[in-house]
Amino acid sequence: MKMIYLDNNATSQVAPEALDAMMPFLTDRYGNPSSMHFFGGSVARDVAVARENLADLLGVSPTEIIFTSGGTESDSTAILSALATSPERREIVTTRVEHPAVLNLCKHLARFKGYTVKWLSVDKEGNLNLDEVNGAISTHTAVVSIMWANNETGVIFPVEKIAEIAAERGALMHTDGVQIVGKIPLKLKNTAINFLALSGHKLHSAKGIGALYLKKGTRFQPFMIGGHQEYDRRGGTENVPGIVGLGKAAELAAKGLDQERTRVKALRDRLQAGILNSVQFARVNGSLENRLPNTLNIGFEFVEGESILLKLDELGICASSGSACTSGSLEPSHVLRAMGVPFTSVHGSIRFSLSRYNTAEEIDFVIQQMPVIIESLRAMSPFGRDNTSIACTVQ
Ligand SMILES: *Cc1c(COP(=O)(O)O)cnc(C)c1O
Repeated sequence: MKMIYLDNNATSQVAPEALDAMMPFLTDRYGNPSSMHFFGGSVARDVAVARENLADLLGVSPTEIIFTSGGTESDSTAILSALATSPERREIVTTRVEHPAVLNLCKHLARFKGYTVKWLSVDKEGNLNLDEVNGAISTHTAVVSIMWANNETGVIFPVEKIAEIAAERGALMHTDGVQIVGKIPLKLKNTAINFLALSGHKLHSAKGIGALYLKKGTRFQPFMIGGHQEYDRRGGTENVPGIVGLGKAAELAAKGLDQERTRVKALRDRLQAGILNSVQFARVNGSLENRLPNTLNIGFEFVEGESILLKLDELGICASSGSACTSGSLEPSHVLRAMGVPFTSVHGSIRFSLSRYNTAEEIDFVIQQMPVIIESLRAMSPFGRDNTSIACTVQ
């Protein structure tokens, strides 16, 4: 059975070109880029090229890139640095719909470090209210951390505008850009954004590699303290294969961005229309306009997401649900709950996230299967009328 992979917001296939670029650094070219001899030193050149390619993708200078172990480390580095370098400010402004990398760090900082966190809400389309944002950021704010695009719904936030408000009040602006980088063209140079986190494995390179954009002139304190790597901004011997692979992935993304974005969006729109046309009681979660081109989050009433995923999985289709049903307790998606998506729909929500490797045939197969799956599940369970048929309980 051929697999149809529609879970690219969770992780993505390593581009064959990125793998080819990495291989020499896992075999013959194992030198340490900090070494004085040619064998090691020549590797430093490849790291520099990767840095240039990534900087080009973001529209920034190579000196503003710090390689890290991934999106999570980049988020922690940015937020903790902003707090450490703004000791007189004790407030953090963030949203209720962040990825756990930011959400749980902010909860931790509130609980154990005495920071005040202002949690911004979203409306039913998943959009922020700019008046609320404006009211939350003050001269007590150390850092504003707002994701650029949401991993579950694909909804895009106006972070450039928010960064200007933050700058006016002397607060630093961090954005979790993991989902937007490589999907939408960015030009960070002319924005007031101080930090942006990105992750290799969401961008067709390897897991365990990522980067942090650090705007020139931004006060900074390292997270990993050790050797002089990354211009004294991140200690530890470089993940050379990862860095080179990320550089290649960035180069590919930049080259194909305009064309692939349009193609992927057309496939996503075809999937969306195909499902809405053939399945009753289905609705898209998240703004239709302000959305990543590859993401479709769709809620099906009277049916459980987990059951849909299992049926899809039997057909070799990989997607994900907005809830994780573990050991008898259901945790509905915090993102969909923050949007006020009705209970019955949260539990039947599925995220399809596409990439440039998907084809029209794959999408058509999914469109053909969805009504069959949903109808068979609805026939089996009198969901909605009898809530005791829900396998999991909700607190
Ligand atoms: C995947 C993801 C992360 C975490 O990145 P890792 O490289 O897996 O640590 C952070 N933020 C968002 C929005 C993500 O989708």
